[in-house]
Amino acid sequence: MELNILTLCYLIGSVTFIIGLKMLSNPATARKGNLVAAGGMSIAILGTIFLYEEDGQKLGNYGWIFGGIAIGTLIGFLAAKKVKMTAMPEMVSLFNGMGGACAALISIVEFDHLMERPPFAEGFTAFPPLSFLIEEPAVPYGKILIILLGLIIGSVSFAGSMVAWGKLNGRVKDFSFKGQHIFNIVLLLAILGLAAYLITNITTTNHVLFYVIFALSLLYGVFFVFPIGGADMPVVISLLNSFTGVAAACGGFLYDNKVMLTGGILVGAAGTLLTILMCKAMNRSLLNVLIGSFGGNHVKAATAGKQQGTYKEISLSDTAVVMSYANKVMIVPGYGLAVAQAQHACHELEKLLESKGVEVKYAIHPVAGRMPGHMNVLLAEADVPYDKLLEMEQANEEFATTDVVLVLGANDVVNPAAKTDPSSPIYGMPILDVELAKNCIVNKRSMKPGYAGIENDLFFQPKTSMLFGDAKKVLQDLIGEIKNL
Ligand code: NDP
Repeated sequence: MELNILTLCYLIGSVTFIIGLKMLSNPATARKGNLVAAGGMSIAILGTIFLYEEDGQKLGNYGWIFGGIAIGTLIGFLAAKKVKMTAMPEMVSLFNGMGGACAALISIVEFDHLMERPPFAEGFTAFPPLSFLIEEPAVPYGKILIILLGLIIGSVSFAGSMVAWGKLNGRVKDFSFKGQHIFNIVLLLAILGLAAYLITNITTTNHVLFYVIFALSLLYGVFFVFPIGGADMPVVISLLNSFTGVAAACGGFLYDNKVMLTGGILVGAAGTLLTILMCKAMNRSLLNVLIGSFGGNHVKAATAGKQQGTYKEISLSDTAVVMSYANKVMIVPGYGLAVAQAQHACHELEKLLESKGVEVKYAIHPVAGRMPGHMNVLLAEADVPYDKLLEMEQANEEFATTDVVLVLGANDVVNPAAKTDPSSPIYGMPILDVELAKNCIVNKRSMKPGYAGIENDLFFQPKTSMLFGDAKKVLQDLIGEIKNL
């Protein structure tokens, strides 16, 4: 009876996970989707703790288990409450790394367990080479394979996520050396070769080799992420996220736990799909992301000092007039809007303009900000209606009929070099064609470059005017000016 209830708990966990994922695909239902999936997972976890039995024995160790859960919940809760929206990718990376570490630890513990059981516990020290081909081998080769997969993938995900976390918060600088990609390939082949050797020649003396594989996998995770440019970190985090999913699925195989398997496979698949979608949004291949060093230091060095001509500024009062008498205004939000926390002021401006009969829409670039969906989340926080948010393709069709584009703290996502300059590191990335509008007003604090570290020709074009200042302050002052018109 208890087994059936446990199976039901796992079924609820799996189904709610799928429903939750589906709900996450729409900003209107995303928050609820997260809760639904978390609720289902809680049922599956509690079911395991209280109902799971092996050889007639329950898990026990409740003090340790609930002590760990309490500490983890407290840290997770405080971190999630405290985190700034702009630091979200860092936190995702950190938490993803913890998932990878868990998967690797499971492998370490299970390898130890395996070595304590027959046939190893009974004094076997060596098996004939390729004995796993024997019909009923004494050694559970399948299990060792899964343990090693979980160890390698989990360790790579953990170490890689830690480096990505450090890169996003500026603690870790880009680092690469000549021939690093070759070194990485050799390291990966060495890990796989040693793992294959361990499986086919398993003995009780293989503990050292197991830990060598563990150490090399950690090293590979570090060197895998080190040379990748800062601007590509979200893609890498998404990829590492899928690794963690696969590593967790290995745990599901090991324990014959359906919900762990389903969860792991879904995370693995979702992470892979997100990685592909992000690469598509930047019009780059995954290989180019992994070896391209986009947003790295060399890019800044290469483009520094490029002469650009002159730009013109616009005053607040002129901006107020131009926007108030426009028929159609398109707002392009970017990372600077999130930094300034200007989303509420932005929504207020939108409502004010609409009260004057101006049509206002938002053009959302898929990689604007610092995480996928960053601008959607930010504007949803300020209750901007979803139907006002246009995806890039839609927005690009509408710029030609737009009177004023107001770029708020966006830079790379409106840089025409992506279309015109084959030597630019962002060449080929689809961008918002704001220069098609009749007027383009760009708000930022200075002429400094954006995340990719490159100049933006848009700022020097005849139709563009610069409105300098912090986005929130500028928007508040602009609202005041428009009200006084
Ligand atoms: P960018 O980082 O290119 O530019 C942001 C601009 O905002 C800066 O030029 C900055 O100029 C300005 N800014 C900063 N603070 C303020 C402020 N308080 N008020 C007004 N302006 C401000 O942002 P985009 O959104 O255009 O592009 C995103 C970039 O980040 C892309 O290169 C993308 O590949 C990358 N990326 C994307 C991720 C994602 O998943 N969305 C994750 C990580 C990176 P100034 O200093 O002069 O004010």
